Amino acid sequence: MLTRMGLFLLCIALGAIIPFLTVTAQSDISQKAHDLHFSSIIVDTHDDTTQRLLDPKFDFGIRHNDGSIDIPRMREGNLSAIFFSIWISGTITGPEAVKRAMDQIDVVRELPVRYPKDIALARTADDVRRIHADGKIAALMGVEGGHMIDNDLGVLRDFARLGVRYMTLTHMLDTDWADSSTGKSTHNGLTDFGKQLVHEMNRMGIMVDISHVSDKTFYDALAISEAPMIASHSSCRAICDAPRNMTDDMIKALAAKGGVVQINYHVGFLSQEFRNADKANPDMGKAMQEEIKKRCGENEGCQLTEGDKLTREYVAQGKLPRVEWTRIIEHIDHAVKLAGADHVGLGSDFDGANMPYGMEDASRLPQITNALLAKGYSAGDIQKILGGNTLRVMEQVEATSKRMGGQP
Ligand SMILES: [Zn+2]
Repeated sequence: MLTRMGLFLLCIALGAIIPFLTVTAQSDISQKAHDLHFSSIIVDTHDDTTQRLLDPKFDFGIRHNDGSIDIPRMREGNLSAIFFSIWISGTITGPEAVKRAMDQIDVVRELPVRYPKDIALARTADDVRRIHADGKIAALMGVEGGHMIDNDLGVLRDFARLGVRYMTLTHMLDTDWADSSTGKSTHNGLTDFGKQLVHEMNRMGIMVDISHVSDKTFYDALAISEAPMIASHSSCRAICDAPRNMTDDMIKALAAKGGVVQINYHVGFLSQEFRNADKANPDMGKAMQEEIKKRCGENEGCQLTEGDKLTREYVAQGKLPRVEWTRIIEHIDHAVKLAGADHVGLGSDFDGANMPYGMEDASRLPQITNALLAKGYSAGDIQKILGGNTLRVMEQVEATSKRMGGQP
């Protein structure tokens, strides 16, 4: 029988053990899920780790206690192919934007030089499969925000020649030719130049990424793109009403033209409760921004990882609701029910957003396979969601490019 003191001590002990159990949830993964996961090619279409790579002192080859992505943790989670986001704020435009994008492309392209046993650059779906068969991780690139081409189709073509395989038409601000979901509806969608640009992306084999764009820009791009499009890191608006998420109609329309929505793990896109709490207290958001600036100055990589850390501190203090990783499964399942298992993938936003509990880093990915199996998904469907669908779209985009005479 427990004495009152015994009960008290047990509670303290459980308090110490419970977080540990959350951290070691991997042990709950069934053998079947483990085998399926580690025999699959896992593709993540959006990671902001590039910001950390810009720091020459950052060693991608060792396990870090912060952030979500490095070679050891990718190996643990069998993350086989990763799209490094080439990103700068939409407030930076003109030649400066091109220069900064080039700097980021350079650090990604140097990865195989620094880590030749682990990383190889991929341009095509076949490259990804070959690199995976060689036991390495495939590194790909996506430009996050059309402002980085400085309104110049030549720059777009140069990006393609350097290996960029998707471009998000906008980031959080409207560009000179497309509206963002968080912009001011400057153009009512895509301008004529924007349409010309989508055509050129099709010709150059760059996937048209509609994450971040306004609904009107999405429909305008969908109407003219000759290849299937992707939403590299978006979730479902029916579950969490963020303008960055996709409505049911958008998901169905994207899928009807062969595209894929890659589900974003950011808590503010997964959970309505989190979004409401965040929106209800703008002063808290401002205080967080100030604290992050205090910790990091202008270092973007630091700001992104500290943002994730600070959000956890606020959750621990009860100021923001706790969001579990299983919400990712709800969004995947919602999109699959709408569009079918051929049109859903993974686009974590690791190292660029605030991750839910239990999905702190790439080592946690086997849980997704485990949860989808437990939900009754077939092994074939799970492999498509983990990466097969993204590879299929890449092949279709490559075929379109060839047909349009655009292979660099
Ligand atoms: Zn983004």
